[in-house]
Amino acid sequence: MRIVTKRNLVGNISKGVNPFGCKKEIENQIQLVKDRGTYKGPKKVLVLGASSSYGLASRISTAFGSQADTIGVSFERGPVDEKNIGTAGWYNSAYFKQYAEESGLIAKNFIGDAFSKRMKTDVIAYIKEEFGGKVDLVVYSIASPKRIHPETGIVYTSAIKPIGQAVEGQNINLEKEVLFDQKIDPATQEEIEGTIEVMGGEDWEMWIDELLENDCLTEDFKTVLYSYIGPECTHEFYHKGTLGLAKKDAEKAQKRISKKLQRENKGQALISVSKVVTTKASAVIPILPLYCIALYKLMLKQGTHETSIMHKDRLLREMIYGDHPEYDEQGRLRPDNWELDPKLQAEVKELMGKINAENFKTELTAYDQFHKEFMNLSGFSVEGVPDESEIELEVLKQLTI
Ligand code: NAD
Repeated sequence: MRIVTKRNLVGNISKGVNPFGCKKEIENQIQLVKDRGTYKGPKKVLVLGASSSYGLASRISTAFGSQADTIGVSFERGPVDEKNIGTAGWYNSAYFKQYAEESGLIAKNFIGDAFSKRMKTDVIAYIKEEFGGKVDLVVYSIASPKRIHPETGIVYTSAIKPIGQAVEGQNINLEKEVLFDQKIDPATQEEIEGTIEVMGGEDWEMWIDELLENDCLTEDFKTVLYSYIGPECTHEFYHKGTLGLAKKDAEKAQKRISKKLQRENKGQALISVSKVVTTKASAVIPILPLYCIALYKLMLKQGTHETSIMHKDRLLREMIYGDHPEYDEQGRLRPDNWELDPKLQAEVKELMGKINAENFKTELTAYDQFHKEFMNLSGFSVEGVPDESEIELEVLKQLTI
């Protein structure tokens, strides 16, 4: 059966997928890493949340920059019929595997719930039986709307909201390409707790505990979780909001994990405060798209604009495995230093003050770049791949994950 891929933007959510575009984007990311050359990094990597943006970028960087075998865990859907051809993350994982294996690397995908006990048991059994017994890097890059707690069965839901007071501002509707006023009411206590349960550090710690107990970590082991702080103008709904609290919880987990690793003489746990990039999540976080189109405009001009792969490859090769780590006084890695440069931020603030409904799509901002990067996530607006591509469903179904 022949299918024609189509863009299907609903608000700021892309419901369509172009598998060929996803494939080309994987090729582009691999090429970027290869162009930067090799680095002495990890060799046996587990990426939790491996199918898109930061997790995928970390997997590509370690595989093609450091020749690492990788295990990727993600929550995605494959092709079923012409109406359900699956998610971009599923194709990213399938094509990554294809290219990694062609290069002689192991690339094992686990599709399912990383929060569950079952997934931890299955991944650990695979590490022990088929992956050489140990891993030297675990990247924790899960972003999820919900979590079923593995011990209590309680379903927690995350909400990106301010705490204590409503936040008002403007946002971009990517489907209709208009600016709109947005008011986000403060989170309820249940939403605050839910976000900490889903996006905090408990599951990260559970993974490391299980791996430690099963003697699956090397002596030079490292694990990293990706956080965000961002500039003052985003603090009300991010850093000081529900997600910010969840990240603080993850930082507490990092301290506990570090102690356990030290006790066992097994390396270190890290928090990397990452830069803002265009992802599925950043497009639905209030006001963030407006900040992005101003920030990207200025960073593009400076030559410091980064996509997920550029940012994570820099973090891994220059900071975690390189000679230029930049830590803050709390011991967190700060590759977000380019984004938070005070001079740049003053210019961003000034530019944001000039953006309005009439000019936000003009040369004044990097709206086009943001929109393109957003479409790229689901395989659209990719150079060399028509948005409307003819695809055989059977060919998609033959892909192995
Ligand atoms: P993303 O939505 O692109 O990717 C999330 C990944 O988690 C996907 O691979 C998805 O399949 C996986 N996942 C979700 N639920 C899962 C589950 N139950 N089991 C297994 N896998 C599951 O997210 P992202 O933007 O790359 O964010 C990753 C991390 O980086 C998050 O912690 C986020 O807070 C952080 N971060 C993001 C930004 C940004 O600008 N996007 C900035 C700083 C930090």
